[in-house]
Amino acid sequence: MKVLVIGGAGYIGSHVVKELMAKGHKVTVFDNLSSGLKQNLFKENGFIKGDILKVKDLEKAFGKGFDAFVHLAAFKAAGESMVCPEKYSINNITGTLNILNAAVKFKCLNMVFSSSAATFGEPQYVPIDENHPKNPENYYGFTKLKIEEFMAWYEKLKGLKFAALRYFNAAGYDPEGVLYGLEKNPANLLPIVMEVACGKRDKMKIFGNDYPTRDGTCIRDYIHVTDLASAHVLALEYISSRKESLTLNLGTGNGITVTEMVDAARRITGKEIKAEYVERRPGDPAQLTAKSDLAKEKLGWEAKYSDVDTLIGSTYSAYKKFYKM
Ligand code: UDP
Repeated sequence: MKVLVIGGAGYIGSHVVKELMAKGHKVTVFDNLSSGLKQNLFKENGFIKGDILKVKDLEKAFGKGFDAFVHLAAFKAAGESMVCPEKYSINNITGTLNILNAAVKFKCLNMVFSSSAATFGEPQYVPIDENHPKNPENYYGFTKLKIEEFMAWYEKLKGLKFAALRYFNAAGYDPEGVLYGLEKNPANLLPIVMEVACGKRDKMKIFGNDYPTRDGTCIRDYIHVTDLASAHVLALEYISSRKESLTLNLGTGNGITVTEMVDAARRITGKEIKAEYVERRPGDPAQLTAKSDLAKEKLGWEAKYSDVDTLIGSTYSAYKKFYKM
């Protein structure tokens, strides 16, 4: 298939592009390189430098004719979204509506969307299945939930078929070591841990140790980015061949606390990794773990690289390569 990957120069996007190429799809990346990196582009692919806030850029891209598109162009820092919601309204909501309108205008009606576990908010039960109530605890999650609703409306009104993939905590780097472009201003846990391990920052903060969890720090379900990428390809093939939309949770079901993650990173890197416990970060649910049975049932998808050692090991390799350590 001819596939447009919007946000394809970013962290998850570049891994999705690599998997699409491996499965023989013809890829064009659309990215404004605000957080995406030139280094993440593959010379075999088309590249359009464009902005999802510019309707003209999108129409020009979709006008080239694609069978499907993947939309990963969004801001994703839950903490920041609570302080700066405007940024998330404009980029995540307005940008996505621009994409949807351009896509339907040019009859590109197969869409894979990066949704998030943040759509659920504080769990009422774990692991979280697809039907769990949605009460986002941060504004970022709210934007993802609204986009899922927009896609459902565009399905009814315009015949769009979509796969909403609710990522739990994306982590890790390409196990083959081809992709190692680091995010510019990371706010997620593992990149921060790696910056300390690589001496780029002195110490890190652990946000809250008074949560009702086994060691007081938040539990998350970390899923390797290459596992996420394979789910994108399977989902795209599924919706386009069966003409059936999908909404799926993508995680492993294994919960890891922040302290456990930091300790594992100390073991794997052999570095001290100084950390201090500080106040909770607003908008953080205590525990998020996924039930991904539906992804297995519908797509035959399974996580292969999401054990803690591969998650941390592949990330550390990327950091060492990037910083030439
Ligand atoms: N976290 C932390 N220190 C950091 C970054 C993150 O303690 O410097 C915690 C955060 O509070 C959350 C977990 O690590 O409990 C995962 O956070 P991240 O931002 O990576 O992903 P989120 O779960 O918010 O999508």
